Amino acid sequence: MKKCRICGKRAVIYMPHHRLALCREHFVEWFERYTARTIKEFKMFTEDERVLVAVSGGKDSLALWKVLRKLGYRADGLYIHLGIGEYSERSKEKVEKFARELGARLIVKDLSKELDRLPELVKHTSREACSLCGVVKRYNFNKVAKEEGYEVVATGHNLDDEASSLLASVLNWNEKYLGRKYPVLKEEGGFVRKVKPFCKFTEKETALYALLEGIDFIEEECPFAEDATSIFYKQVLNQIEERFPGTKLRFYLEYLRKVYPRFRTDDKAELKSCKVCGEPTAGEVCPVCRLKEKLSAREAL
Ligand code: AMP
Ligand code: ZN
Ligand code: ZN
Repeated sequence: MKKCRICGKRAVIYMPHHRLALCREHFVEWFERYTARTIKEFKMFTEDERVLVAVSGGKDSLALWKVLRKLGYRADGLYIHLGIGEYSERSKEKVEKFARELGARLIVKDLSKELDRLPELVKHTSREACSLCGVVKRYNFNKVAKEEGYEVVATGHNLDDEASSLLASVLNWNEKYLGRKYPVLKEEGGFVRKVKPFCKFTEKETALYALLEGIDFIEEECPFAEDATSIFYKQVLNQIEERFPGTKLRFYLEYLRKVYPRFRTDDKAELKSCKVCGEPTAGEVCPVCRLKEKLSAREAL
């Protein structure tokens, strides 16, 4: 077993991509300092700004909220209740309990009534369930942040999330996506700033941090999370990583450095306001208002 680089005690993790082995205590310390460094490196937000952390009840977003509070940032939480049966209830309870322990403000946006037929629609839609929920979540992150006066929304996306979706876009040469994927998207055209302070941590690292900090998170997946594609890409990347340690982080960081600047577009200028709700959108009516129309047209299902 490897020894902690700092104190020489038994290491709990070895991170080949950093050539770094650390014990419990020093891993926690490193993890928090590294988050602070990433926030500064990408100029995500300052100590004066109010940050809204989108918390799902999972390990990544709860860990992110905790780290930001520990680092002294003005971070509150936002939970979007999508009304996906027991799963949503259980994750909401975890988030509420966590907020109490943290002594932080939590905003719960309850869409379970408004979108009561979402689970039903998901079953009938040709679109992948996750992408439907994703649209609703992102819309509400932005809307609630503006209503409540937050400058920034932070999500718990980790390196595995980012590298696997990057791989999918590369395999499809999805140029539009390659020009938009970045750990900080600046505010413009009715959108608040979006940041991903955990984008350089592997899933293993965020899981270990959550475990060592005793965070009580929801382990089960959303019952609709049958997005087999992204799980498969994550597995493939992990296999490559095992054979060639360091590849995953390099793949992502070199994209940020070399590829993103080439594909980067500022197509936000073309945004209009949704005719129904006024939120920014590329079309006349935003995807969420269109979804709501569908949900109210009962016979359409
Ligand atoms: P996912 O798309 O489920 O992997 O989630 C990505 C990130 O979105 C999480 O790390 C959270 O920051 C955020 N998130 C997901 N679901 C919710 C939710 N129901 N409410 C608030 N934030 C969420
Ligand atoms: Zn140590
Ligand atoms: Zn709308």
